[in-house]
Amino acid sequence: MGSIHEDGWKLLKQHNFEVFEITNFENSFLKKELADVDGIALRTAKLNSEVLSSCKKLKIVSRHGVGYDNVDKKFLDNNKIALGITGTANAVTVAEHVISMFFYLIKKIHLSDKLTKAGKYKEKNSLEETFEIYNKNILIIGFGRIGRALAKRCLGFDSKVFVYDPYIKNSDVEKYNCQPINKEEGLKIADYISIHLPLNQKTKNFISDNEFSLVKKNLIIVNTARGGIINEKALALALKENRIAGAGIDVFEVEPPVINHPYFNLNNIVLSPHNAALTSECKKRMAIEVCKNIINFLTKNEELNFNNIVNSEILNLN
Ligand code: NAD
Repeated sequence: MGSIHEDGWKLLKQHNFEVFEITNFENSFLKKELADVDGIALRTAKLNSEVLSSCKKLKIVSRHGVGYDNVDKKFLDNNKIALGITGTANAVTVAEHVISMFFYLIKKIHLSDKLTKAGKYKEKNSLEETFEIYNKNILIIGFGRIGRALAKRCLGFDSKVFVYDPYIKNSDVEKYNCQPINKEEGLKIADYISIHLPLNQKTKNFISDNEFSLVKKNLIIVNTARGGIINEKALALALKENRIAGAGIDVFEVEPPVINHPYFNLNNIVLSPHNAALTSECKKRMAIEVCKNIINFLTKNEELNFNNIVNSEILNLN
């Protein structure tokens, strides 16, 4: 569901699977088209229980990505349908997106470029102040695949990396040369924050008015995880009132965001259309991995990466 890099299709065809692509995501259409499929490679469209209950032969849904909040996991678990993710494909790519948002917001190269091309070289002192990442406190919230890839890169810039993730042992955080910290302390000391949590009941509005009342004025915050983890109204207000310095946002509570979204009038925010993982290299890796999950699962191939099957315990695969 949704188009993927051609190398994924090629792989499925090489293994004699019959494949077709769907770009109409209306429930009635999906129920008809998906009735006889064994596997689904799913991009960002919603796959709800109404549609899933009409897929009588379905054995695996493989997400092109790692988040799976667009599929009814409970239904899959109850019906022993596997849920795959492309766990090894996109961490580095998303981490690079975070770094590029940090640098866009602090180095403001776009403003320098504009000024220089306008022949205003001599007016460089009129440009906005710029800043460094060196020796700054970076708080990474959520220390899974992407959080760790980001930590490694930030340490490369000689930043001090703090981690809030109560599900990871302190010793495991320290192994990565990062310092574990609680949420409140982390918010208070951070110069930069990057969010790498799944979206669920516990993480919805994880950063909201209360959290913005604790942070430093120079804070740069980036969310490439899921919309709604940062409360959008609270962030827009904090930026508008210059209570924080800047934000980078790749994900929105409703996607695509509405045309008069409160972020759109702000100049201390940089936005991207949920494409943090969509580099040329990563699209190819994800397409291959999403299809490999399907092939290996359906053919019971021993090369199946169990770490990529989110509900492997429920399926008794381990
Ligand atoms: P992951 O599962 O490897 O890591 C998530 C981490 O969050 C885990 O270490 C977990 O312990 C921690 N966590 C869960 N609940 C928490 C809580 N309440 N408080 C603190 N920590 C908590 O996931 P990942 O691969 O690193 O992906 C992270 C997020 O990025 C996901 O939401 C995913 O959907 C999103 N993502 C977005 C893009 C994009 O294109 N923008 C691409 C890939 C992933």
